[in-house]
Parts: sequence; structure tokens; C-alpha cells
Amino acid sequence: GWRSRAAFKLIEIDDRFHLIKPGMRIIDLGAAPGGWSQVAVKRGATHVAGVDLLPVEPVAGAELVEGDFTDPEMPDRLKLLLGGPADLVLSDMAPNTTGHAPTDHLRIMGLAEGALDFALQVLAEGGGFVAKVFQGGSEQQMLDSMKKAFTSVRHVKPPASRKESSELYVVATGFRLAKPGG
Ligand code: SAM
Repeated sequence: GWRSRAAFKLIEIDDRFHLIKPGMRIIDLGAAPGGWSQVAVKRGATHVAGVDLLPVEPVAGAELVEGDFTDPEMPDRLKLLLGGPADLVLSDMAPNTTGHAPTDHLRIMGLAEGALDFALQVLAEGGGFVAKVFQGGSEQQMLDSMKKAFTSVRHVKPPASRKESSELYVVATGFRLAKPGG
């Protein structure tokens, strides 16, 4: 069985956008308790590496690290575990909520921006990026950077995401690897 209810959100996102393909290298940011990593492995990713502040029970086929994704060594560490650059970076990261909506909004967007920054460091040409954001979509600045870095940027609210919850996911595909001097 799936470790988390969140697993169904990734299943729904992937059924719609067909992001996970056999043989892919995938990074899972905020992996605990392991549902998204399970889905990535199940859908044929051959290399899955994840990180979470919390320890994660082992997931067969995935390498899950306990740590903070903002650790400056983490991009290289996860790339090493994958054996190369990532085809897809997933972030379902969420902060501990305070109940104070504006604060929670800022924190979730901070994590999403950090995840984007991480993705830009580890993605292979043509790669994809999925991150949990806040209702209303991404902040303009983040959206602008994504539109420069990817050929397509869309938002989706998977049915498994509670209607009352203000979470959304941004789905970006077609990463354009910056060319030296370009
Ligand atoms: N997608 C997961 C699944 O299907 O099992 C559920 C992820 S849960 C909603 C969000 C996770 O983000 C939490 O486990 C939390 O510890 C993690 N997280 C929040 N901030 C983080 C950070 N700075 N570095 C790593 N993980 C973080």
C-alpha cells in the first residue's frame, strides 16, 4: 500500500501530465513518509533519491536521506546518489503550519522557490519540475523564472487535494539547460 494519502495526488498529476517514464532519475524533496518515492519507483523510475528533515522508512528502489534540502551540499549529494542529473524534481514540501494564513503562505512559497532553485542545479536538459504552491498560483517572480527555464508551466489542483486546502501544484516541463555564454 501507499505510505501516504499524498501518493494519490502524484498519481493524479502523473496520469494527467505523464511525467514519470521508465528509466528516469527522479529527486523527491520532502519525501517523508515516502509515498511519492513509492509512486516514482512503481511507475518505472530506475533511480530515485529523496531528502526529508524526518527519517523515512526505507523504500525499495529509492535512496532517502535525512537532512535539509537547503544544505548547500544536498544538490550534489542527491545527484551522486542518482548517478547523474535528474529528469524530474518533485517537491511536496510543506512547512509546519502556524494557522496564521499569511505566514503559512509565505513559508510554503519559500519552500517552493527553494525547490525551484534546487531543480535548476540538478535537472538534465528537457527535465521536469513539480512543486506544491499556494492558491492563486506561483508568485510572479517565481513564475517568471520558471517561464524562462521551462517550455511549459501549468498549475493543477489534483482531486485528492482537499477542496478546503489552498494548496496547488505547479508542473513545469521542458527544462532548458543554460548554455555556456548564452
Ligand atoms: N510526498 C510525501 C509523501 O507522499 O509521503 C509527503 C510530504 S509531506 C506533505 C511534506 C514534507 O516536507 C514533510 O515530511 C517535511 O518534513 C518536509 N520538509 C519541510 N521542510 C523541509 C526541508 N527544509 N528539507 C527537507 N524536507 C522538508
